[in-house]
Amino acid sequence: MDKDNVDTVNTKSKGSILVICAHSDDQIIGPGGTIAKYAKEGYDVYTIILSFGEFVQPHVKREIISKTRIKESQKADKIIGGKGVVFMGLKENKFEKDLHERGLEKNFKNLIRKYKPVKIFTHAPDDALNDHRATYRMVLKTYKEMNLRADLYTFDVWHLFNLKKRYRPKFVVDTTDTFKIKMKALRVFKSQIDLSTFYNYLVLNNFLFILINIRDLLKGISNNTKYAEVFHKVR
Ligand SMILES: [Zn+2]
Repeated sequence: MDKDNVDTVNTKSKGSILVICAHSDDQIIGPGGTIAKYAKEGYDVYTIILSFGEFVQPHVKREIISKTRIKESQKADKIIGGKGVVFMGLKENKFEKDLHERGLEKNFKNLIRKYKPVKIFTHAPDDALNDHRATYRMVLKTYKEMNLRADLYTFDVWHLFNLKKRYRPKFVVDTTDTFKIKMKALRVFKSQIDLSTFYNYLVLNNFLFILINIRDLLKGISNNTKYAEVFHKVR
């Protein structure tokens, strides 16, 4: 695990907020505007990223990807005003199994204990991606085992136009003032897209930005703000 860039918890802050996600750009795509807002308000925001996301570029060596991902997420974290990013390095599509087999449950719990979050943000249980759902299960299981009291919220990543009924209470954050910061942070993640074909890069990259813009704008419109991020409260 990479712990070098994590500051010690500042006891004079308003409290700490923890984002737990599967890949290195999920924390920006999902709650980016919200965590930037909390950071501005004086909260310490920490992020735990479960994998390095090697599957995007199977032909590039694991170490190279890991290094790039760490650098990118540290850069994005600085932009949003976060206090640090930790990578667990779990195998994709095998998060729970890998955590257990490598005996990392303790490390995961110790990290949460160290940060003492007042709020935790993680993936939604019905996200389209397998690893996002596994992240939710891991977080909920750990939350219960540790008897945590923090507010637990879920965010959508690949669930852009969700029509399903959600019975859980909604938590809407007006991100109008931090939407630009979110977009700036998102632009840091160049390695998620295969750079070997410039055309793909151009198309995919812009497509992602447009989608996120539309999504946050629509959420804003339906909540009487310009931009918004919407979460569901689990605990
Ligand atoms: Zn992801």
